[in-house]
Amino acid sequence: MNPQVDAQAVSQECTELDIAIVGGAMAGATLALGLASLARKLSRPLKIAVIEAFDPAKQHPGFDARSIAIANGSVFELKRLGIWPLLADLGTAITDIHVSDRGHFGMTELNAEQFALDSLGQVVELERVGQRLFSAIGNSDIQLYCPARLEKLQTSAAGHSLTLSNGQRLSCRLLLAADGVNSSVRAQQQQVLQQFEFGQSAVIANIATDKPHNGMAWERFTEHGPLALLPMGDSDGQARLSLVWALPHEEAERVQALPQAEFLQQLQQAFGYRAGRFVAVGERHRYPLSLSYMPRPIYHRTLYLGNAAQTLHPIAGQGFNLGLRDLVTVLETLEPVLAEGADPGAAQVLHAYHAAREQDRRQTINNIEFLVRGFSNNYWPLVAGRNLGLRILSWCPPLKTPVAHRAMGWHRQSAACLFSRSQ
Ligand SMILES: Cc1cc2nc3c(=O)[nH]c(=O)nc-3n(C[C@H](O)[C@H](O)[C@H](O)COP(=O)(O)OP(=O)(O)OC[C@H]3O[C@@H](n4cnc5c(N)ncnc54)[C@H](O)[C@@H]3O)c2cc1C
Repeated sequence: MNPQVDAQAVSQECTELDIAIVGGAMAGATLALGLASLARKLSRPLKIAVIEAFDPAKQHPGFDARSIAIANGSVFELKRLGIWPLLADLGTAITDIHVSDRGHFGMTELNAEQFALDSLGQVVELERVGQRLFSAIGNSDIQLYCPARLEKLQTSAAGHSLTLSNGQRLSCRLLLAADGVNSSVRAQQQQVLQQFEFGQSAVIANIATDKPHNGMAWERFTEHGPLALLPMGDSDGQARLSLVWALPHEEAERVQALPQAEFLQQLQQAFGYRAGRFVAVGERHRYPLSLSYMPRPIYHRTLYLGNAAQTLHPIAGQGFNLGLRDLVTVLETLEPVLAEGADPGAAQVLHAYHAAREQDRRQTINNIEFLVRGFSNNYWPLVAGRNLGLRILSWCPPLKTPVAHRAMGWHRQSAACLFSRSQ
């Protein structure tokens, strides 16, 4: 039975839940399916609900025109959660990553073979991913409130009471806030969010080229900001790349509005001809970029996840990958608790989660901030340093291993996972 709740139904009754997830985009939808699979594994009934403001069959801000790179380690985790089979046919494998600094000598390349892998990661289109995840939620026991918005949150020692925009009332013992950078849960709980502006926006678009990409992803640092091209599935026999072009805000606005031919010519000038000639560009979209970070993504019976806990610059394609490592730790932390029938919202559960995730979150955020600031700067010692760094990486393959492990999300895995990843 599809337990989707009629969004128009107005009920004064309160539905009791174990876990409520506010926000049903990449983080919330993945987490809901992960929790449902954990409940099946433990043979424990678990009342889970997802509350999402937008219908993914119409226009959904989390499942939009973006394509994202899912790192090899994340694909491994999605397989373990039973979610990757839903998405596998949507993925385009990244077999090589080429990193260069425009106008300078520095460049390096990573390829899957060096690490005895089939791919370094997979590129997926979020709009299609959203449809698959929502269809799986619809076929599960998860209660879906969509379109419905969390309006009011009331908290007591035993749990939360949620009032939705359709008047529906829910109560839960654990609240998972996956409601994005402008989290209404965070606003209502008055929790701290640290924000840093990079002064950049990303222009994204699909680009058709006259040359097959052969699984290559490119990252190019330019004097204005970084530019990434990810391999996508062909369309009408034409090779396609997904572009993320970070530029100062006014420059991004100007570039987005350029006529097609001029846009392609300026992109070609910024990127060069390594990926062939750019022959067409699809609809262009623009995202302002900032770094936001909750130093303490926990509060009374509440965990903050995904963009609500941290929003990263897309330079290294780490936003969802870091969020997924958070989700996996939530599931690992909850497993023994739910197995014993204990309280999932208890303070020690939240503290155990926070302690397990603090280091990886901090380090990933620091690395990305360093990359964005270090590579968008023309101060000569920095230019020399970063080019030397890229050169040393290309001359000395063993040094690439830690960099690649981080890019692929393998630094979190245990030795057993590393051993079994290629099986
Ligand atoms: C240009 C770009 C490229 C990127 N590339 C990559 C990449 O290559 N690899 C990677 O790993 N990551 C990448 N990312 C990051 C990745 O897209 C995000 O990390 C991920 O999509 C975040 O998902 P989320 O579910 O946490 O948040 P969001 O997508 O922000 O979703 C929040 C959801 O909450 C809902 N919501 C908000 N308030 C309420 C409310 N009151 N009630 C109910 N629902 C509510 C919203 O409708 C929304 O659906 C990229 C990001 C950008 C901008």
